[in-house]
Amino acid sequence: MNIYPDLYLDSILELSVETLNKNNIKGLMIDIDNTVVDTEKNIIDGLEDWYKKIKDAGIKCIILSNSSKIAKIRSVSDKLEIPYISLALKPLKSGFKRGIKLLDMDKENIAVVGDQIFTDVIGANRCKLFSILVKPINEQDLWYTKWKRPIENKILEKYKKSNEK
Ligand SMILES: [Mg+2]
Repeated sequence: MNIYPDLYLDSILELSVETLNKNNIKGLMIDIDNTVVDTEKNIIDGLEDWYKKIKDAGIKCIILSNSSKIAKIRSVSDKLEIPYISLALKPLKSGFKRGIKLLDMDKENIAVVGDQIFTDVIGANRCKLFSILVKPINEQDLWYTKWKRPIENKILEKYKKSNEK
Protein backbone atom coordinates (compact mmCIF):
# COMPACT_ATOMS: atom_id res chain seq x y z
CA MET A 1 0.00 0.00 0.00
CA ASN A 2 1.42 3.35 -1.02
CA ILE A 3 0.78 5.88 1.72
CA TYR A 4 2.98 8.66 0.34
CA PRO A 5 1.61 11.66 -1.53
CA ASP A 6 3.12 12.61 -4.88
CA LEU A 7 3.14 16.18 -3.66
CA TYR A 8 2.83 17.80 -0.24
CA LEU A 9 1.79 21.45 0.13
CA ASP A 10 0.83 23.76 2.99
CA SER A 11 -2.43 24.71 1.29
CA ILE A 12 -4.43 24.10 -1.86
CA LEU A 13 -3.81 27.80 -2.61
CA GLU A 14 -0.14 26.90 -3.19
CA LEU A 15 -1.04 24.55 -5.99
CA SER A 16 0.01 26.39 -9.14
CA VAL A 17 -0.90 26.00 -12.79
CA GLU A 18 2.82 25.52 -13.48
CA THR A 19 3.00 22.53 -11.12
CA LEU A 20 -0.12 21.03 -12.64
CA ASN A 21 1.16 21.51 -16.19
CA LYS A 22 4.53 20.05 -15.27
CA ASN A 23 2.79 16.90 -14.05
CA ASN A 24 0.39 16.82 -16.98
CA ILE A 25 -2.65 17.31 -14.72
CA LYS A 26 -5.82 18.49 -16.45
CA GLY A 27 -8.40 17.58 -13.80
CA LEU A 28 -8.68 17.90 -10.02
CA MET A 29 -10.78 16.08 -7.44
CA ILE A 30 -10.96 18.40 -4.45
CA ASP A 31 -11.73 17.35 -0.88
CA ILE A 32 -13.93 19.65 1.24
CA ASP A 33 -13.38 19.22 4.98
CA ASN A 34 -10.16 20.79 6.21
CA THR A 35 -8.96 21.21 2.61
CA VAL A 36 -11.16 24.14 1.48
CA VAL A 37 -13.65 24.45 4.38
CA ASP A 38 -12.80 24.74 8.07
CA THR A 39 -14.68 23.13 10.95
CA GLU A 40 -16.90 26.25 11.21
CA LYS A 41 -17.92 25.70 7.58
CA ASN A 42 -16.03 28.80 6.41
CA ILE A 43 -14.53 28.60 2.95
CA ILE A 44 -10.83 29.56 3.01
CA ASP A 45 -9.96 33.07 1.88
CA GLY A 46 -8.55 33.21 -1.60
CA LEU A 47 -10.19 30.06 -2.91
CA GLU A 48 -12.12 31.87 -5.65
CA ASP A 49 -9.03 33.74 -6.88
CA TRP A 50 -7.07 30.48 -6.86
CA TYR A 51 -9.82 28.67 -8.75
CA LYS A 52 -10.06 31.41 -11.38
CA LYS A 53 -6.41 30.83 -12.32
CA ILE A 54 -6.93 27.07 -12.43
CA LYS A 55 -10.08 27.41 -14.54
CA ASP A 56 -8.48 29.92 -16.93
CA ALA A 57 -5.70 27.38 -17.50
CA GLY A 58 -8.33 24.90 -18.69
CA ILE A 59 -8.12 22.62 -15.67
CA LYS A 60 -11.42 20.93 -14.78
CA CYS A 61 -12.37 20.56 -11.12
CA ILE A 62 -14.89 18.55 -9.16
CA ILE A 63 -15.53 18.10 -5.45
CA LEU A 64 -15.04 14.62 -4.01
CA SER A 65 -16.20 14.52 -0.40
CA ASN A 66 -16.94 11.81 2.12
CA SER A 67 -19.37 14.16 3.82
CA SER A 68 -23.14 13.82 3.69
CA LYS A 69 -23.62 17.51 4.51
CA ILE A 70 -25.02 18.69 1.19
CA ALA A 71 -25.51 22.34 2.22
CA LYS A 72 -21.84 22.64 3.13
CA ILE A 73 -20.66 20.92 -0.05
CA ARG A 74 -22.97 23.10 -2.15
CA SER A 75 -21.63 26.26 -0.57
CA VAL A 76 -18.37 25.48 -2.37
CA SER A 77 -19.78 23.81 -5.46
CA ASP A 78 -22.18 26.73 -6.13
CA LYS A 79 -19.52 29.35 -5.50
CA LEU A 80 -17.05 27.80 -7.93
CA GLU A 81 -19.76 26.41 -10.22
CA ILE A 82 -18.29 22.91 -10.23
CA PRO A 83 -20.01 19.54 -9.78
CA TYR A 84 -19.71 17.46 -6.63
CA ILE A 85 -19.79 13.90 -5.41
CA SER A 86 -20.85 13.48 -1.77
CA LEU A 87 -20.59 10.33 0.38
CA ALA A 88 -17.60 9.32 -1.73
CA LEU A 89 -16.42 6.61 0.71
CA LYS A 90 -12.75 7.45 0.22
CA PRO A 91 -10.38 5.52 0.32
CA LEU A 92 -12.60 3.00 -1.47
CA LYS A 93 -12.27 3.10 -5.25
CA SER A 94 -15.96 3.63 -6.08
CA GLY A 95 -16.08 7.40 -5.46
CA PHE A 96 -12.84 8.00 -7.33
CA LYS A 97 -14.18 5.98 -10.28
CA ARG A 98 -17.29 8.17 -10.35
CA GLY A 99 -14.99 11.17 -10.26
CA ILE A 100 -12.95 9.91 -13.20
CA LYS A 101 -16.18 9.47 -15.18
CA LEU A 102 -17.37 12.93 -14.26
CA LEU A 103 -14.07 14.53 -15.26
CA ASP A 104 -14.14 12.45 -18.44
CA MET A 105 -10.38 12.19 -18.92
CA ASP A 106 -7.50 9.73 -18.52
CA LYS A 107 -6.37 8.79 -15.00
CA GLU A 108 -2.86 10.01 -15.79
CA ASN A 109 -4.24 13.53 -16.10
CA ILE A 110 -6.11 13.58 -12.79
CA ALA A 111 -4.93 14.69 -9.35
CA VAL A 112 -6.65 14.33 -5.98
CA VAL A 113 -6.23 17.13 -3.43
CA GLY A 114 -6.98 16.45 0.23
CA ASP A 115 -5.77 16.73 3.81
CA GLN A 116 -5.85 13.10 4.86
CA ILE A 117 -3.44 10.29 4.07
CA PHE A 118 -5.94 7.63 5.08
CA THR A 119 -8.70 8.74 2.73
CA ASP A 120 -7.43 11.11 0.04
CA VAL A 121 -3.86 9.95 -0.54
CA ILE A 122 -4.29 6.20 -0.14
CA GLY A 123 -7.45 6.26 -2.27
CA ALA A 124 -5.79 8.30 -5.00
CA ASN A 125 -2.73 6.06 -5.03
CA ARG A 126 -4.86 2.92 -5.20
CA CYS A 127 -6.63 4.34 -8.25
CA LYS A 128 -3.30 5.45 -9.78
CA LEU A 129 -4.22 9.11 -9.61
CA PHE A 130 -1.73 11.85 -8.72
CA SER A 131 -2.02 12.48 -4.97
CA ILE A 132 -1.62 15.90 -3.40
CA LEU A 133 -1.67 16.19 0.39
CA VAL A 134 -2.28 19.59 1.98
CA LYS A 135 -2.06 20.63 5.61
CA PRO A 136 -5.47 20.55 7.31
CA ILE A 137 -6.97 24.05 7.69
CA ASN A 138 -7.81 23.68 11.35
CA GLU A 139 -5.44 22.69 14.09
CA GLN A 140 -8.55 21.41 15.71
CA ASP A 141 -9.64 18.56 13.51
CA LEU A 142 -13.08 17.08 13.21
CA TRP A 143 -13.54 14.50 15.92
CA TYR A 144 -13.42 11.52 13.62
CA THR A 145 -10.06 12.42 12.12
CA LYS A 146 -8.41 13.02 15.47
CA TRP A 147 -7.26 9.50 16.19
CA LYS A 148 -5.54 9.21 12.85
CA ARG A 149 -3.62 12.50 12.95
CA PRO A 150 -0.72 11.45 15.22
CA ILE A 151 -0.04 8.51 12.91
CA GLU A 152 -0.12 10.76 9.87
CA ASN A 153 2.32 13.18 11.47
CA LYS A 154 4.78 10.33 11.97
CA ILE A 155 4.43 9.29 8.37
CA LEU A 156 5.01 12.87 7.19
CA GLU A 157 8.14 13.18 9.31
CA LYS A 158 9.46 10.09 7.57
CA TYR A 159 8.42 11.45 4.17
CA LYS A 160 10.21 14.75 4.77
CA LYS A 161 13.35 12.98 5.97
CA SER A 162 13.43 10.70 2.95
CA ASN A 163 13.11 13.76 0.70
CA GLU A 164 15.95 15.54 2.44
CA LYS A 165 18.39 12.74 1.63
MG1 LIG B 1 -10.64 16.36 4.46
